[in-house]
Amino acid sequence: MILFKKAEDLRKYLDQQRKTGKLIGFVPTMGALHQGHLALLSSVKNAGRLSVCSIFVNPTQFNDPADFKKYPVTIEADIQQLISISCDILFLPPVEEIYPDGLTLKHHYDLGYLETVLEGAFRPGHFQGVSVVVHRLLDIVRPDELYLGQKDYQQCMVIAKMIDLTGLDSMVRLRISPTVREADGLAMSSRNTRLSPEQRKLAPGIYQALSYIRNKLVQGSLKQLKEEAVSQLTSTGFRVDYVEIADADSLQVLDYWNGRQRLVLLAAAFLGEVRLIDNILVE
Ligand code: AMP
Repeated sequence: MILFKKAEDLRKYLDQQRKTGKLIGFVPTMGALHQGHLALLSSVKNAGRLSVCSIFVNPTQFNDPADFKKYPVTIEADIQQLISISCDILFLPPVEEIYPDGLTLKHHYDLGYLETVLEGAFRPGHFQGVSVVVHRLLDIVRPDELYLGQKDYQQCMVIAKMIDLTGLDSMVRLRISPTVREADGLAMSSRNTRLSPEQRKLAPGIYQALSYIRNKLVQGSLKQLKEEAVSQLTSTGFRVDYVEIADADSLQVLDYWNGRQRLVLLAAAFLGEVRLIDNILVE
């Protein structure tokens, strides 16, 4: 694996590789790597692409400064994991490489409705930060394919919109991989390492609440089902931001299901200081 810290060096290297006919698959991450990240990189390798992983804890996407401060950093272990799966390239830039003009965002991405609901509503500014960093990384790596996890469902939609808005859609294809879970159903996440042993035992409750909704779904009003899922979570010690049922294509939040729309069930809730999110697609 080759490690790059400077955008210009990586750009030059990838330009050479492109000339030899290689196609590039890119997995942007914030590190503290787990099987969810590695599954994305395995998809890149299985597709026969040159695999590029970035690790960058992006300051502009943290609406909560305490969350940024406590974000887990495990660079040495991450590098070992990447070597073990034969990742080709790691991009590990310092902040100045990504934000040469400072951290004040100068461009506003018109994300529309997507920025007003769910994560957008509970984490003001988050998706602007996500858009700016992914845009910058795409500009440096110029991948043929961008691999993202369904774990961050709304983020996938935001990045698709950003790619559309910036005209990058003719250059890069989005590939979305299913959520990788622990044996007890908990969606893998770097933040899980911050849970106490007691909280870790409770954490699968978020997937169980979403599974409860999926199993009880029937055409008609959705209000009671959502309320039941919220009280299940609250009674087991979660502080709930939202449990919602939305149209899987538009993310329009629904109180009524016509029985035909593809749905996505989404939840965000705190255990102590740790905020967990999860979702289930209902095809
Ligand atoms: P993060 O490091 O949390 O910013 O995540 C980097 C990428 O990995 C994003 O595209 C995430 O959606 C994806 N990802 C994170 N956790 C999982 C998971 N449990 N399963 C699949 N993909 C994931």
